[in-house]
Amino acid sequence: MNAVKELSEYFSEIMHLNYIQALLGWDQQVNMMGYKSVTGRGEQIALIHQLLHKRLTSEKLGKLIIEAEKVKNLNDIESAIIRESKRAYEQEIKLPEELVIEIAKTTTSAQQVWQEARKKNDFKMFQPLLEKNIELQIEKAKKLETHPDLYSTLIDLFEPSATYDWINSVFKPIKSKLKDLVKKLDSSPNKPEDSILKKHYDPNKQFELSHKIIEKLQFDFDRGRQDRSTHPFTTSLAALDTRITTRTTEPFPDCITSTIHECGHALYEMGIKEELHNTILCQGTSMAIHESQSRMWENFIGRSKEFWTYWYPTFQRYFPENLENYPLEEFHRAINIVEPSFIRVNADEVTYGLHIILRFELEKSLIDRKIQVNELPELWNSKFEELLGIIPPDDIKGVLQDVHWSSGYFGYFPTYFLGNLYAGQIYSYALKLNPNFPQDYEKGEFSGLLSYLKENIHQYGSIYRANDLIKRVTGEALNPEYFLKYIEQKYYPIYKI
Ligand code: ZN
Repeated sequence: MNAVKELSEYFSEIMHLNYIQALLGWDQQVNMMGYKSVTGRGEQIALIHQLLHKRLTSEKLGKLIIEAEKVKNLNDIESAIIRESKRAYEQEIKLPEELVIEIAKTTTSAQQVWQEARKKNDFKMFQPLLEKNIELQIEKAKKLETHPDLYSTLIDLFEPSATYDWINSVFKPIKSKLKDLVKKLDSSPNKPEDSILKKHYDPNKQFELSHKIIEKLQFDFDRGRQDRSTHPFTTSLAALDTRITTRTTEPFPDCITSTIHECGHALYEMGIKEELHNTILCQGTSMAIHESQSRMWENFIGRSKEFWTYWYPTFQRYFPENLENYPLEEFHRAINIVEPSFIRVNADEVTYGLHIILRFELEKSLIDRKIQVNELPELWNSKFEELLGIIPPDDIKGVLQDVHWSSGYFGYFPTYFLGNLYAGQIYSYALKLNPNFPQDYEKGEFSGLLSYLKENIHQYGSIYRANDLIKRVTGEALNPEYFLKYIEQKYYPIYKI
């Protein structure tokens, strides 16, 4: 057998173990809320973890990679299989087992303490474990050594090939422009009014509507499910089995927009071509490209006038007590209000990037040991004021809000905003080729855009890295100007500027 084929088959078993692990996690989050039998589940997850580690560090795998690398005249899929297998192998083999165990133990207690500290608004309580988490991540980066710069090595774990310098060069020019735009919109005399969203909307009706919407967006219910959970997420349990979850918390229409977001992730996974199923390439190519798909559906489509032109009459029928006499125009403005606020996950699409830039800059300084953990709350607040013009009243609304640092995820945040920027560029290009897409949305027709994305992005799974993919799709490297243009063109009319 061809060595690349052998390598690929070796990984199909690893993929199945990954799916089993995902199934155990999905069941825990969806079906075991408040259920006491979690001990057995924890042991099962640990066992799968162990089996995965064994397979990923085996001598056999090391040899298979060396053999595969000798094969000449590889096609794109074969080269990508070798590239991704090697990446997975090296990530696993370079880290000493003691370090992996220590990271797992520390993050588990850090997450517990973080939750407690957040309840009590007590950063000092969390500080020692955060310090330990950072130390361990620095050690991990030194062992992995993917890039000379430690923070870049950590970023690479979430966004292959991306570096601090590159991301900084993308974020820098957009930072002051975003700041100015937020100020301009926020001080406009024609700010939208959103009290309509603060009324009560029956959660069951919201769930029903979210289901109808993703059905129209062509979420394939024969190859996936929609359930409820505390935090919405998407996970694949097999090549043809992608699950999403919905939450029905306030304010309205968070249930709808967050379901569309997860649906966007799912459509990506569902669109991967059959040839890649059960190979290591059967997944989105990076966190940022994944997020570009979810954010595109959520914001570019799901908060557009055309989308709501189609859906609003249905919503008026479901919620006549709130919406019957409320004009579409005003509703559309309300769901697109731009306002500096403290919590990242609730931020609008214009201020969102500034929340990320703040975390990106702080992470770099933390990993470079240019700042101390005890200085964080103050630095957070002063940076927040500089970027968004407001100061968090406490650490719950400030430095303690995200789960990432307690989980040891440094380098993850920038991928969220990169996702928005990729979305801006991809969508602008899609519209240039298909200017009639928005008119389709008015008729409840979304398959044109989905086909475009499937054809150009989804089917390839992780054959192409993000930086290659964007060039293949749009003919140029990531350029943040597209996103800026998109928000100006969208928000100036909403704010009557
Ligand atoms: Zn997402």
